[in-house]
Amino acid sequence: AVVMRGVSKWYGDFQVLTDIDLNVRRGERVVICGPSGSGKSTLIRCINRLEEHQQGDIIVDGVALTDDLRSVDRVRREVGMVFQQFNLFPHLTVLENCVLAPMRVRGASRRAAEEQALALLARVRIPEQAGKYPGQLSGGQQQRVAIARALCMNPRIMLFDEPTSALDPEMVKEVLDVMVELAGDGMTMLCVTHEMGFARRIADRVIFMDGGQIVEQADPEAFFTAPKHARTQAFLSQVL
Ligand code: ATP
Ligand code: MG
Repeated sequence: AVVMRGVSKWYGDFQVLTDIDLNVRRGERVVICGPSGSGKSTLIRCINRLEEHQQGDIIVDGVALTDDLRSVDRVRREVGMVFQQFNLFPHLTVLENCVLAPMRVRGASRRAAEEQALALLARVRIPEQAGKYPGQLSGGQQQRVAIARALCMNPRIMLFDEPTSALDPEMVKEVLDVMVELAGDGMTMLCVTHEMGFARRIADRVIFMDGGQIVEQADPEAFFTAPKHARTQAFLSQVL
């Protein structure tokens, strides 16, 4: 579970997050949307300490994120992240990308790590690509490698930051299908996305951010059919 209480963050003088309260239960699937610059990426990057918050508490599976590097390490072991730009290591094969962290961070044997990686590559439907380099794959395939690579660490929580927005339209579905499957397996997911069809299908809750604040949150049915705030309505009229 993820708990944020009164979280605020500044970049210099600019306040990017203001008093964020958020409670994500185990197994819950939360979709975050909102206009560009509203603080969506910053919010989820605070959860695995890619960004530091200055005020309030962030507690991930019982571990409070503080300056103590051990708490940061503990949280990062439990939290997988997938970025818009896949961030694969270009000089490593797909399989090497997948086994690196389990071997280095978890101390897994090569054999066990490869076995798991191959199983996960099959699950994201690219078992035949294990020996290739990222540059030899399509965008959709690279993003599925990125998802498999994150899953190789057996995370309890997965964070996605616009995982389909760098993809050509015909590749969006293959990545969303993998994410839908993951949601069905009970993974705790926080996903920044503008794919509102996906949100409707898998989200337990949709959050709308604007100006560094959570403006509105509701279950998808209520969120899409009866948004309360004018800013949510204006946003939805643009993306739907
Ligand atoms: P997008 O939909 O475009 O990805 P976002 O909602 O993810 O936007 P953030 O990337 O969290 O927004 O950025 C929120 C605000 O903080 C923006 O105004 C951005 O310019 C600013 N910002 C982000 N990163 C930094 C940084 N490292 N230093 C200073 N300002 C930053
Ligand atoms: Mg962003």
